[in-house]
Amino acid sequence: MSGRDSAHRDAAAAPRVDVLVIGGGPAGAATSVALARRGRSVTLVARPPGRGPRLGETVPAGIVTTLARLGLWRAFLADGHLPSAGTVACWGGLTPFERDALFDPYGCGWHLDRARFEATLLATAEDAGVDVRAGTVRDCTPDGDGWTVRVTGPLPATVRAGWVADASGRAARVARTRGAGRLRCDRLVGLARFARTPDGGEDTDTRTVVEATEAGWWYVAPLPGGRAVAVLFTDADLLPRDPGGRTRCWTDLLATTRLARDRLGGASDLSPLRAAPADSGVLAPPCGRRWVAVGDAAQTWDPLSGRGIATAMASAPAAAEVLVARHPDTVALDCYARQVRDVFGAYLRERAVQYGRERRWVHSPFWQRRAGVLRLGAPPRSTGRTGPSARSSTAGAEGAA
Ligand SMILES: Cc1cc2nc3c(=O)[nH]c(=O)nc-3n(C[C@H](O)[C@H](O)[C@H](O)COP(=O)(O)OP(=O)(O)OC[C@H]3O[C@@H](n4cnc5c(N)ncnc54)[C@H](O)[C@@H]3O)c2cc1C
Repeated sequence: MSGRDSAHRDAAAAPRVDVLVIGGGPAGAATSVALARRGRSVTLVARPPGRGPRLGETVPAGIVTTLARLGLWRAFLADGHLPSAGTVACWGGLTPFERDALFDPYGCGWHLDRARFEATLLATAEDAGVDVRAGTVRDCTPDGDGWTVRVTGPLPATVRAGWVADASGRAARVARTRGAGRLRCDRLVGLARFARTPDGGEDTDTRTVVEATEAGWWYVAPLPGGRAVAVLFTDADLLPRDPGGRTRCWTDLLATTRLARDRLGGASDLSPLRAAPADSGVLAPPCGRRWVAVGDAAQTWDPLSGRGIATAMASAPAAAEVLVARHPDTVALDCYARQVRDVFGAYLRERAVQYGRERRWVHSPFWQRRAGVLRLGAPPRSTGRTGPSARSSTAGAEGAA
């Protein structure tokens, strides 16, 4: 028998589930829990974590509502995340201002142990009946009434699924093979270093520091276990290309800050620099025949919002609403696409307000590029079919210099 014949035989014999979820991040875990609770059979493929801690670790107090809806609040509290007392920021002027958690109706925000957070999310998915597998999704091939999916990893497998939920993060693994493209608003990149902080006991300042500078902006956040992370955000093309040059740039620019530098004072054991794309963007279209993108795969927000994780999880119920259907429903798909676009449009307006508050560096390319409201181009094509390949493109800026 030829290799092709045996591949066909394997695919035909493969188990079939209602939905295959790609990615074990916040969006993938929350979507699979929502689906399993609605009686759907779900396989979630989670790529094992890479080396070093993941970026993205501070969540707002309001995440309690999403966690409670998923039945996760008690487990979250038991996981030892660090309560955040609020934010202190230098933005728009030299005088720092504070947003104290005391005045937040939901209480304090949280600095996460991200690895533990994601492990708890996946354990919750398993408890809800989701078949959670460590592995990497390689190919997703449409097979008439669903998909044949090849998974590599410790237990290579072929899985058949009625729907695919693409929660693979900004890679948008399946969506891109179905002709979807990302409308990208900027080239923001985060340059991060982790550090050990002196143990200040109960006096440790748990506020997040945010500070605008001519070249971009910084945040410094404490982490559970006596650690902290400091991230410089600027545009990729404004940075040296070589890793050594970037590290020097990070150190030199930190020296020009006030709050960020002070907060890192006394920190030791600085990790090597990690760079991560942090651009804002939206997938067009964010869903199609038998697939839906969710979380960062559908839209990415500037980390200034501090809401990437919360938004990724909060988008799960709307995605699940489409994915519970036995057959693709073009009205539900169009509704989901419109919702993603509306949420992203509202986010862009808020982003313009926040960046517009900083007017000290009118000649800086970083700040010039963020003046004015960005508008998206034509609405995404109707979603029931595969469109022509729409390459990643940049949204137009209204009023930008
Ligand atoms: C520098 C930086 C700082 C940030 N800071 C914050 C912050 O403080 N607070 C906040 O709320 N947000 C922050 N964010 C954003 C936040 O991290 C994301 O919005 C959030 O992780 C989105 O969750 P997700 O599940 O959609 O995607 P992800 O968390 O990216 O998860 C996607 C998962 O899919 C997996 N995957 C990809 N391809 C495959 C495949 N083929 N097979 C199987 N698995 C696959 C990946 O390994 C990953 O585990 C930050 C982002 C950056 C870049």
